[in-house]
Amino acid sequence: MKRYSALALLKAGLNGQRGWDRAWRDPEPQKNYDVIIIGGGGHGLSTAYYLAKVHGIRNIAVLEKGWIGGGNTGRNTTIVRSNYRQKPLHDLFDFALNLWDGMSDELNYNVMFSPRGALFLGHSDSDMTMLAQRGDALRCDGIDAELLSRDQVHKLIPLLDMSRDARFPIHGGMTQRRGGTARHDAVAWGYARAADTLGVDVIQKCEVTGFTMDGGRVTGVETNRGSIGAGRVGICVAGNSGPVAAMVGLNLPIEAQTLQAFVTEPVKPMIDTVIMSQSLHCYISQSDKGGIVLGGDPDQFPSYAQRGLPARIEKAAAEAIALVPALSRLRMVRCWSGTTDMSFDGSPIISSLPVDNLYLNGGWCYGGFKATPASGWCYAHLLATGASHALAAPFAFDRFAHGATIDEAGVGFMPQLR
Ligand SMILES: Cc1cc2nc3c(=O)[nH]c(=O)nc-3n(C[C@H](O)[C@H](O)[C@H](O)COP(=O)(O)OP(=O)(O)OC[C@H]3O[C@@H](n4cnc5c(N)ncnc54)[C@H](O)[C@@H]3O)c2cc1C
Repeated sequence: MKRYSALALLKAGLNGQRGWDRAWRDPEPQKNYDVIIIGGGGHGLSTAYYLAKVHGIRNIAVLEKGWIGGGNTGRNTTIVRSNYRQKPLHDLFDFALNLWDGMSDELNYNVMFSPRGALFLGHSDSDMTMLAQRGDALRCDGIDAELLSRDQVHKLIPLLDMSRDARFPIHGGMTQRRGGTARHDAVAWGYARAADTLGVDVIQKCEVTGFTMDGGRVTGVETNRGSIGAGRVGICVAGNSGPVAAMVGLNLPIEAQTLQAFVTEPVKPMIDTVIMSQSLHCYISQSDKGGIVLGGDPDQFPSYAQRGLPARIEKAAAEAIALVPALSRLRMVRCWSGTTDMSFDGSPIISSLPVDNLYLNGGWCYGGFKATPASGWCYAHLLATGASHALAAPFAFDRFAHGATIDEAGVGFMPQLR
């Protein structure tokens, strides 16, 4: 595969942009692979890349029922950060943040990682106390966190409504300057191209419809393009983990919920950091093209429809406008949805399953994009060695049976009642 470089760009430019290779091959499925990964999102593709690059396993297929990056990877609001509450999570996400930093060079593909800062707003004294506690915990672990006063927040984002009678008064905030955004579909394309270069078969329009078994062991998959044998199979199908695991009779502690995002017409730079409010669950950022990207709560009932409730759009837009009144002048041009894999404790599962040769990477809720490189790294380790990577060990499937849940969502010990 030809390397992308300034010289290659110049040559192609002088030649009318002709002469570029396909970014990845379009292979037919082989009869057998050492490892099959189901799902060609960022996580599945990064897993394949690290399996080939770090573990030297080359006989790998990524099977994608649609087109790569067409799932949640291409539908998210691109926020990348590592300032989580629970230690296992902030360790995992910070490992990811370090990988994000060098990803464009590593993959020879511009993933447009933009560390413009990720700011949580505090709307009350108790919000500020929680942010301060979280910041202290992060800093004790060597992760950057900065508590900002009301004036500092105002200086950072002059367009915020800072008045005392604002609908959501702003008392201050906590920012992670290393956080920011990355171009979501470029991440899938970059990993696909790099994995393909290492010999991985990325096979689109190949839907897994069942598993082949021998004495309780998974030996391969059934697909709409025939049976394919495999030494190990990794499920990596955010939003569809439940139905795919049900094909081998497993019932996961995961519920599928619809999450929407919206974007306005493009405008000149007006917000140069990511703004988030966990009290409202509203987040705002400006894309590199100039559109203001907005998101809010999931629909909070089980659904596989990639179309969300209009009431959610209204709520998120109203909250965003209350925070940044200038947004009321902009036209919303698009809204879209994804099916998120809401686990019962708000934390992911990277684990072997109680069926031999079968593994799961799922339950990323509405926050898995930022984990993409770390998730792939740890899942590749698990698929290559059969043992959990130290960073992924807390995210085992059996934690729900043992009560060792990682309650990032703050849903308590009976999440089914939330
Ligand atoms: C609106 C929205 C906003 C979000 N915002 C953020 C954010 O700002 N920051 C953040 O960190 N996270 C965010 N997320 C979450 C994030 O997008 C996901 O956690 C992450 O993209 C999951 O990646 P993935 O590779 O596991 O899944 P996906 O990209 O969904 O890939 C899974 C793939 O599996 C395929 N598949 C499913 N079933 C089968 C089958 N039977 N056979 C073959 N293929 C199959 C699907 O077609 C899909 O392409 C958001 C999600 C949504 C929906």
